Amino acid sequence: MSDDRLDANRAVSTTPPRLSIEIVTLVPEVFTSFLQASLLGKAVASGLIAVATTNPRDFAPGRHRQVDDSPYGGGPGMVLRPDPVAAAIDDVENRRGRAHRLLLSPSGQLFDQKCAADLAARGRIMLICGRYEGVDERIAQLYADQAVSIGDYVLAGGEVAAAVVIEATARLVPGVLGCGESVVEESFSAGRLEFPQWTRPPLFRGLGVPEVLLS
Ligand code: SAH
Repeated sequence: MSDDRLDANRAVSTTPPRLSIEIVTLVPEVFTSFLQASLLGKAVASGLIAVATTNPRDFAPGRHRQVDDSPYGGGPGMVLRPDPVAAAIDDVENRRGRAHRLLLSPSGQLFDQKCAADLAARGRIMLICGRYEGVDERIAQLYADQAVSIGDYVLAGGEVAAAVVIEATARLVPGVLGCGESVVEESFSAGRLEFPQWTRPPLFRGLGVPEVLLS
């Protein structure tokens, strides 16, 4: 009912996707161009990566389909209700199976390269995006396998954080990067940062390239 496959124009592929990503979000349009562009777009179009968004608003009761409500105990702002989020997750999993569920949250575990590698190996992940002042705590308790933060700052919603997780994770899926690009010898993969790099021209605004690289 609320389901949007973002890989609608993917080539007919007989092999299942290497990574299937379910996004639970109130603002699916955030992902549209992001998932169509560049290498990630190609991976989605070829069926290597499958992505679908599901909107909790489609599962909210009443004519106004209200998904937020004021916090118990008072305080500013609104909280995302647990029932439409839970219904969205249940609906997705009833149709396509259980996923490793991540809740995007500023108080979650800090997302890093190791976490990206772990997710890339799981095959099927779900990213649950909060909005407003956050999601009712019972979603964290009843549904989240893991809560992940992309850094010590507060975003307006989990969508951009989910995009960060998707981009870092997808490029580790075999076949996603163009040939010649490597995920083995790069920053964080061997516990170090990548060396500086140079390309043409050999002289740029008075700065050259280390002699040893030119020979
Ligand atoms: N009131 C909360 C912030 C809510 S921000 C607090 O003070 O902690 C609204 C939503 O944005 C959150 O539910 C979460 O999904 C997302 N979000 C905000 N900052 C984030 C971060 N650093 N990493 C991951 N998700 C984040």
